[in-house]
Amino acid sequence: MRHIAIIGSGPAGYYTAEAAQKAFGDEVLIDVFDRLPVPYGLIRTGVAPDHQSIKAVSKRYEKVALSDNVRFVGNVTIGEDVSIPELRELYDAVVLATGAPRDRPLDIPGEDLGNVFGSAAFVGWYNGHPQFAGLDPDLSGKTAVVIGMGNVALDVARILAKTPAELAGSDIVAHALEALEGSKFERVVLLGRRGPHQIMMTPKELGELGELARAAPHIAPADLPAPEEDAILEPGLRKSVSHLRAYAATPEHIRAEKPIAIEFAFLAAPKALLGTGKVEAIEIEKTRLVHGQAEGTGEIERLPADLVVSCIGYRTSPIPDVPFDERAGRFANDEGRILPGLYCVGWARRGPSGTIGTNRPDGYSVVELIAEDVEAGVLGRATRRGRAGFDALAQARQLDVVTFRDWKKIEEAEERAAREGAPREKFVDIEGMIKAGR
Ligand code: NAP
Repeated sequence: MRHIAIIGSGPAGYYTAEAAQKAFGDEVLIDVFDRLPVPYGLIRTGVAPDHQSIKAVSKRYEKVALSDNVRFVGNVTIGEDVSIPELRELYDAVVLATGAPRDRPLDIPGEDLGNVFGSAAFVGWYNGHPQFAGLDPDLSGKTAVVIGMGNVALDVARILAKTPAELAGSDIVAHALEALEGSKFERVVLLGRRGPHQIMMTPKELGELGELARAAPHIAPADLPAPEEDAILEPGLRKSVSHLRAYAATPEHIRAEKPIAIEFAFLAAPKALLGTGKVEAIEIEKTRLVHGQAEGTGEIERLPADLVVSCIGYRTSPIPDVPFDERAGRFANDEGRILPGLYCVGWARRGPSGTIGTNRPDGYSVVELIAEDVEAGVLGRATRRGRAGFDALAQARQLDVVTFRDWKKIEEAEERAAREGAPREKFVDIEGMIKAGR
């Protein structure tokens, strides 16, 4: 029997478990660890609450989780409760599927001012991640500035702009819905340091911005390149740019029917955040493109900003005893191999890019590496103690392990607590989750 520990129960973790089942069949036992008492990582706390169809993929992970040779081990923090060397001793293979839960810093003056948040924190807040549930952003201002031109920036802008009725069928948590109900935004500015041809927004997600009840996208036609230049773009980006063109062509009197303007500011790099205690303005430097990269022009402008959310990417959290690539913000690895018997997968391997589905081939390829290493004798003979050894350790340390069965009780309690029309009302604190699971 081979024993595999997967750290992280998000998409990368469960696709790896699924692949390991297929590759090793009855010859493997798989433990999927999570620091939270609840599974599914990014599906639960990253994917936008109004994108329920994307969240449906968790049913596929549940099928894996419920199979005989896979077990969920929640509420255990690897690197704190149990160390990596201990796990490597117990399991043939340890796979880090811990994602990239930390915000990349903006590294500009004023970043520490009040009401300035990274997207991990802000998205975590409206999605009920226990670490960020207490964020308490002030949404009473007129202008929100969202930095970045990726899909996360779109998620944040859309959630800020939607009416409570538009969010009714989502699983946005009660504290966020209540705060948004009282919000007073008139402008949501999306700030891109490069141009319309360099956006990272995908067509479907960008298209949603044109269908909002009380908000309309505003794009200055002069900011767009000549239409014939779109021909060189790859098809997905070309489609996204065609949305930008449609928004730019919308007559002013139609846009003005909607009270919130979602303004696209291109070629504008954030330089400083200004304010006393709390952010009041953002200083930007106009840029020009040089070989596709943003280069400052020295022209400085100032925009009012009552709330700033930077959506500029993420970093993996380091774990003691695991080599880390500081510059890239992820584990130091060679195509998924870190050390003998220690692997990484998903965002922890390749950084924060791609869709949920990108993690599937990733999971399958890390299992191929494990199979190769088994074959080559790198992982030694199949004599490790695996989950029995972990259970003894957990008992000795009095760890309060949450099982998949406990999670199902938490899930039922969340479904029972849902407001009318919503799929669930999430627990936003670890104690509440554990209590519901008992
Ligand atoms: P992303 O797609 O990499 O976009 C990051 C944005 O931040 C880029 O526009 C980037 O501009 C900008 N940026 C980076 N550093 C900056 C700086 N110092 N100053 C100003 N701007 C800066 O990342 P993401 O939006 O966080 O998304 C992560 C991944 O999740 C992506 O693959 C995304 O597609 C995926 N996702 C998908 C969905 C969905 O399918 N519905 C939803 C959310 C996220 P440059 O290009 O100039 O670097």
